[in-house]
Amino acid sequence: MTTIDALREQLVATAAAVIVSGAISPNGHGNLSLRVPGASEMLFSTAPTLHNLGAHGAARIALDGAVIEGEVPPINRAVIDMHTAIYNDLPEAGCVIHTHAPYATAFAVARRPIDCWIEALAMFGLADGVPLADYGPRGSAQAVANIRAAIKGGAPAVLLANHGVLVFHRTPEQAVNILGIVEEAARDAINAIPLGGPIPVEPDMRAAALQRAAAFGIVPEP
Ligand SMILES: [Zn+2]
Repeated sequence: MTTIDALREQLVATAAAVIVSGAISPNGHGNLSLRVPGASEMLFSTAPTLHNLGAHGAARIALDGAVIEGEVPPINRAVIDMHTAIYNDLPEAGCVIHTHAPYATAFAVARRPIDCWIEALAMFGLADGVPLADYGPRGSAQAVANIRAAIKGGAPAVLLANHGVLVFHRTPEQAVNILGIVEEAARDAINAIPLGGPIPVEPDMRAAALQRAAAFGIVPEP
């Protein structure tokens, strides 16, 4: 099996994992990509939905945005730059996922960042919460510039104003994990509103939460 074929299988498995996570709208709208190791390209989903994504539902895209192999419908072509920007800026990023996860998207629509309301955020690189990228038309240069500005602090996730959520990490498993944690934090915060509203973990205790997770080998040493 070639590297690309193996990556196609990994893309299909990742799409299925996103669906299982529930961090996606019922229509499955979203897109995901994997960096092709050792090459300046990515494998990018080309179906309008991540439901039942097949191995044929992927295209090879150069990190300058050029299509190397495969058909990319306009709806997907419009958001290519949102993915390539992450790979170009962050050499360690191996997977990018975008969905309209319902609770996270509620925060994006309200244009409110997610604070460190659940300790998993502190454990997995989001001690400062999930930043909000200002609105820009889907996949536009403005939207991409806003994403780049929002993630300067190192967060592996960002809310896209009036649109959805974007996450990324070294591996697909880690990216799906981040997506699930962001959606869980958003849901828990909304559920906490009738109880007086969510309260962030104290800033000095966020490092403690990370250190304890590291001590048990749940996450690498910070
Ligand atoms: Zn979208």
